[in-house]
Amino acid sequence: MLHSTGANNPELRRYVNPDDGRLGKNLYNNHWNMDVPDLRVCVHAFIGYLADRSVATYQVLPFDHRGWHCASGRNGSGNDTHLSVELCEDGLVSNTYFEAVYQEAVGLFAMWSKLYGWDPLAPGVIIDHAEGYRRGIASNHGDVGHWFARHGRTMDDFRRAVARELAHQAEPSPGREVWLWGVNGTYAQDFIVHPDKDGSYALEFVSCNKMLDVEYNQPGDGTTVQAWPRNNTDAQRWLIKEKATRGLGKVVRLASYTDPDYVLDVAGNRHEPGTRVQTWRDYESYPGGNHAQEFVLIPRGWTPEGLQIVSIILADANMAVDVRSGGH
Ligand SMILES: [Zn+2]
Repeated sequence: MLHSTGANNPELRRYVNPDDGRLGKNLYNNHWNMDVPDLRVCVHAFIGYLADRSVATYQVLPFDHRGWHCASGRNGSGNDTHLSVELCEDGLVSNTYFEAVYQEAVGLFAMWSKLYGWDPLAPGVIIDHAEGYRRGIASNHGDVGHWFARHGRTMDDFRRAVARELAHQAEPSPGREVWLWGVNGTYAQDFIVHPDKDGSYALEFVSCNKMLDVEYNQPGDGTTVQAWPRNNTDAQRWLIKEKATRGLGKVVRLASYTDPDYVLDVAGNRHEPGTRVQTWRDYESYPGGNHAQEFVLIPRGWTPEGLQIVSIILADANMAVDVRSGGH
């Protein structure tokens, strides 16, 4: 059962201490690893910041030990049936922090699923506190939807991500994460433009020779865009829609060949490094739509075969479409 703390305290040391050299010291001595008379809660793990502001999971209860995390409802108590983790909330605004915590939680639930043979997609196996309440096995709390919704994620997304992670672990995937990163002139931000059928283009990362690819060739609202080995499918074909000229460059949208109503989009119209890149319905049809889908193609040279190399830069920020770790 996924919980979130409901307080702006992303540091693990708020809840978990003593300091092990990585957590940092809780200066207020109000962590939960001590005798607090009215603190009737003990989860199995917390996810939040270490002192160096990297995100980590801390186990605080044996996984075969019953926790106290969700009280009960008309059908009993999730304490009897579910492991529990608290995600340490921040102010709910930072997408970079949210995504780091989300991915960490995906990893934890994938590990649990593997350890205990769970099917992450089966009803009732992976739930949040609010879903536990609706199932009658938990108290009436809203976590974690109030936080997830602000970043375009649902519990269904989460369960699918856990299932995907399990599948990846079973068979290491050649797919690599595509995200937004500050323009730095590296090959991780350079694309070889291959003219393809019907005026479409295939875009190949110079750093890893993988292609800009729509996951499962199912463009939709929030579908992951990744780097994937070239397979000549429509998942790797893009239509360049020229929209306007701004400054030096033409502002374009990159539409999925499979369904041109869906275009390359940065999650939440955010500009932080690490913001995920996805497909989303073309905002053109939505008056007042934001600039999350507007890019400028910056020429970066030519291959020996005469193919153009470009970087894909957000039109209103100095941020590039980039593959994590060069795609390796
Ligand atoms: Zn909760």
